[in-house]
Amino acid sequence: RPEVSPDAQESELAIEGALRPTSLADFVGQPKVRSQLQLLLDAAGMQQRPADHILLSGPPGLGKTTLAMIVAHESGRPLRLSSGPAIQHAGDLAALLSSLTPGEVLFIDEVHRMARSAEEMLYLAMEDFRIDIMVGKGAGATSIPLDLAPFTLVGATTRAGLLPNPLRDRFGFTGHLEYYDPADLERVISRSADMLGVALPPVARGEIARRSRGTPRIANRLLRRVRDFVLVHDRPADLDAVSAALELYDVDEIGLDRLDRAVLDALVRRFGGGPVGLSTLAVAVGEEAETVESVVEPYLVRIGFLGRTPRGRIATPAAYAHLGAPHAENALR
Ligand code: ATP
Repeated sequence: RPEVSPDAQESELAIEGALRPTSLADFVGQPKVRSQLQLLLDAAGMQQRPADHILLSGPPGLGKTTLAMIVAHESGRPLRLSSGPAIQHAGDLAALLSSLTPGEVLFIDEVHRMARSAEEMLYLAMEDFRIDIMVGKGAGATSIPLDLAPFTLVGATTRAGLLPNPLRDRFGFTGHLEYYDPADLERVISRSADMLGVALPPVARGEIARRSRGTPRIANRLLRRVRDFVLVHDRPADLDAVSAALELYDVDEIGLDRLDRAVLDALVRRFGGGPVGLSTLAVAVGEEAETVESVVEPYLVRIGFLGRTPRGRIATPAAYAHLGAPHAENALR
């Protein structure tokens, strides 16, 4: 088994962390969510109380974690990070909530993946800053109420629709993050390139932006691969270098990666353009249905390559054209 140095892994993560903007003013794009959050934070600041609970929804890598950090930073409060899959029992959540300091910001990533029992505990905690702890079993079981310090919950989810209504309703505000347009991604890349010390001409910047699937995390990652490429080959970071580096990493000319293309390819070539069910499609490409649904599909839908219908997923004529596949008329069924 090849050795993977934990240091290398850590330094990539450290770079990703260092590239995170720390204020709303530095957060690129998403003007709507930015002004909504600004108002929420200003009002809470004026009244010297923790901000209302915030739900952020959108595909991975669009800045949900970054925004949670900004909420804490801008309101001058500490931040606690957790995630739905880490909260498998109500007890996990009770331990977390009871250790919060007054006004702390609690970020729960993938909040839709929390255990059901914990979800129910969270309703009361969000509403009344109180939880009931069950002690004992069977007829002798009793519940002991426990007061909590007031806190702001920032929940993140790839799809707000996955949350049960009672939970969704307890957030004071839901911000929907959209894919970024290339102009905004160029701003993200410029900022990161300056911080990494990569001299990138505007055309090269534009090319990375165009091929980043509307996602800042991908833009930053592609930038780091381009930086590696020009370092190793000792050449300038021009358009040719960008194209060569991205080709090496299987990013095609419109930014689709290997998995995006595998999904389209299966849809078009194995299932005749669909309609085909999500789980069948996921099995065909060897991926989890949730990954296909929340990571791959939203972007393919957004660029008009894939349609979701009640009978299943279908490929559009644009998808056929991109794959260079014949029988585009199949897609019109
Ligand atoms: P996940 O939910 O998968 O954790 P996320 O939506 O929380 O993803 P982040 O981790 O916040 O995404 O952001 C990914 C990277 O993209 C970070 O390194 C951050 O620096 C960068 N980034 C995200 N949004 C912006 C933005 N608006 N401006 C500048 N950089 C951004």
